[in-house]
Amino acid sequence: MTIKFPKISRVVSILFLTSTLVLSGCTEPKPVNEFHETVFTMGTLVEVTIIGEKEALAEQAFTAILDDFNYMHNTWHPWKYNALKRINNLLVTGAKFSLAPSILPLIKKSQVLSKQSQGLFNPAIGQLIKMWGFHQDNLDEIIEPPEDEQIQAFLSDLPSMSDIEFSNLSMRGTNKNIQLDFGAFAKGVAVDTTIEHLKEFGIKNAIINAGGDLRAIGNNNGRPWRIGIRNPRAKGVFAAVEVSGDESVFTSGDYERYFESDGKRYHHIIDPRTGYPANKTRSVTVIHSEAGTADAAATALFIAGPEKWPEIAQAMGIKYVMLIARNGDVHMNPAMAKRIKFTIQQPAIKLSKPLK
Ligand code: AMP
Ligand code: MG
Repeated sequence: MTIKFPKISRVVSILFLTSTLVLSGCTEPKPVNEFHETVFTMGTLVEVTIIGEKEALAEQAFTAILDDFNYMHNTWHPWKYNALKRINNLLVTGAKFSLAPSILPLIKKSQVLSKQSQGLFNPAIGQLIKMWGFHQDNLDEIIEPPEDEQIQAFLSDLPSMSDIEFSNLSMRGTNKNIQLDFGAFAKGVAVDTTIEHLKEFGIKNAIINAGGDLRAIGNNNGRPWRIGIRNPRAKGVFAAVEVSGDESVFTSGDYERYFESDGKRYHHIIDPRTGYPANKTRSVTVIHSEAGTADAAATALFIAGPEKWPEIAQAMGIKYVMLIARNGDVHMNPAMAKRIKFTIQQPAIKLSKPLK
């Protein structure tokens, strides 16, 4: 799911859960102490639901995580002057510079995830994302894709996350094309950070839903959280999955951000092997304990496509995947198939080998 960063704002305050993506069950016991707020931050509507706590505590926790979101929004915004921009300016020089603690965890964790994904998830390709125009909030002004020559020149010296070297308290870039763009990952990390913060307040049952990508802890008034998965080719929900305990559900889709040129659609998930939008997948949904990992994995498996996704999922430690291929085929591993309930007529499912 994409991260773009307009100014944070508090949008609505209602007491009962009405999200389209967190589905209600058939029998509706009356919710007790249900706190529900929505804010616009990190380019998306973020819905926070807290169950079974006093309203004052829920309000206090909510205010605290608003500060978190604000901080992450300002620090990780890809194209305004902030810690990330400073790092990007310095990485291209090849010189050593002091590392920024606010970005370090993102870099370290994405180095691991990028390697596991065989470079399909590659936050070092910020320059390529910019060439396509997907760094912008508003895609309306993009009129055509970049020149193929420009793309090939970039690919001839493709930067990777291992082009960042560390020594003591400094770091340096070893590829002149490297620019970090955490659009495929930062929202997940933000959801993890804020869920951990809610836990510090003693909150046991909550969900943070950032535009359909979410992490849920505990349960929803004694029932599992029921999460809807959007249909990539039609309005509404396609399937549902129940989560309880502590799990994240993230989806990457070709319908999320795109522009059209000469009657052709170009979406925002770029295959670092070709320099073009990945063309084998409509959407991928991943369930994993950590939202950051789920976010990175959904992007990587989208690019991997219907043949390669089990290998990459295995390497990234992912246990539940559903991939809708470009031709509409529905792929899953057996453990995911046990959890998914279709809300439309059940399609034929192509099962992978179990993910260990
Ligand atoms: P997501 O919606 O989580 O799949 O993230 C898509 C966003 O991540 C895009 O808008 C880009 O900013 C960025 N992105 C695109 N392709 C890649 C890639 N191969 N690796 C890492 N980030 C990417
Ligand atoms: Mg992602």
